[in-house]
Amino acid sequence: MFDWVIVGAGFAGATLAERIATERDEKVLVIDRRPHIGGNAYDRYNEDGLLVHQYGPHIFHTNSQMIFDHLSKFTEWRKYEHRVLGKVDGMEVPIPINLDTVNMLYGLNLTSEELPAWFASKAEKVEEIKTSEDVVVSVVGRELYEKFFQGYTRKQWGMDPSELDKSVTARVPTRTNRDDRYFTDEFQYMPLHGYTRMFETMLDHPNIKVMTQTDYQDIRNEVSFKRLIWTGPVDEYFGFRHGKLPYRSLKFRHETLDVEQALPTGTVNYPQTEDYTRISEYKHMTGQVHPKTAITYEYPSAEGDPYYPIPRPENAELYKKYERLAMATPNVWFVGRLATYRYYNMDQVTGQALATFRRIQEALPVGGDV
Ligand code: FAD
Ligand code: UDP
Repeated sequence: MFDWVIVGAGFAGATLAERIATERDEKVLVIDRRPHIGGNAYDRYNEDGLLVHQYGPHIFHTNSQMIFDHLSKFTEWRKYEHRVLGKVDGMEVPIPINLDTVNMLYGLNLTSEELPAWFASKAEKVEEIKTSEDVVVSVVGRELYEKFFQGYTRKQWGMDPSELDKSVTARVPTRTNRDDRYFTDEFQYMPLHGYTRMFETMLDHPNIKVMTQTDYQDIRNEVSFKRLIWTGPVDEYFGFRHGKLPYRSLKFRHETLDVEQALPTGTVNYPQTEDYTRISEYKHMTGQVHPKTAITYEYPSAEGDPYYPIPRPENAELYKKYERLAMATPNVWFVGRLATYRYYNMDQVTGQALATFRRIQEALPVGGDV
């Protein structure tokens, strides 16, 4: 007999399991259909002893002191600021586009003071910024948009940026200074001993039982429980009754190379060439010292595990139908990137899970009536 079953052992599920077990002293069963905890943030040591991220590079960054403090209960941290280069016109230039990117690509010697006027001379006027094309061409113009965004986005999403919500490419800013960090958040760290270790610590509680390689369908009639937290795809929970919500997937190619370092930065993007979008090298992130190095290629794919909700108007409409069903389902909470169909980073999922816990506390005071 469990008070709660939590479906999914990623950031959403593990954060809620820990809070419920610790603060409510209730019994929680966490299940995941995969053979491990951590969801998409799962990392592991490969056969050569190199720490790799099974589902592509995961870099933690947040501006929230509260979220950082919460996760700090379960891990120590290693300071890491991610940098990305793009292979563009045969050169390796900084992404996000900054002063050096423009000067390198165009053989110019502009200053930070001159660059805004240069961008303005290239920018296209867009009446209302709606799409992922609008948001870029209105700032840097069509040429840089095509070089950096159009090809990459077509590969990554299987559609043109004009078909995607502006929020997708708006994740990547444009800079007039020389800051070449991918993120500018206040807190940028990697868990010192990896994500999986952090999740093990989070889930290590006498009130929590974890079962991996266990699908919800396998246990729903076998286990007795009062309440459910669902962090899988929301359309799956409702038997796809309104149709399938589109999710984008990836295939990962993991390689170990017999060199100490393979890439100049943690990630190199390929906006113009190759079938893959980017290559990442984990030693930059983990700080591991090792004679070999591990890298991962990401190949976008329509089939496979659901990794990315696809932000565009018709999908938002379809999601709303599922959201209405979710809201009308008592004793089930929907949390996380797949269950709320939001293109959330790890810190945002953690924040959403903590907010859900506060709502649970209000709705179900400990010791109150069911
Ligand atoms: P998930 O991690 O997807 O966990 C859901 C779990 O539920 C899965 O393990 C799944 O197996 C399980 N599940 C689903 N259905 C069932 C079922 N029926 N029965 C049992 N189990 C089920 N975020 C960042 O902040 N920084 C980054 O650098 C970053 N890089 C990323 C790179 C890639 C390639 C991807 C795909 C994502 C990246 N993210 C990054 C986003 C990050 O992965 C997510 O924000 C986070 O992992 C979402 O956590 P979650 O718990 O919502 O979902
Ligand atoms: N993007 C791009 N070129 C790049 C980097 C990003 O066109 O060199 C676009 C692309 O559409 C991508 C989105 O911006 O999906 C968000 O990029 P981010 O690096 O945040 O993607 P994620 O790490 O979530 O896959």
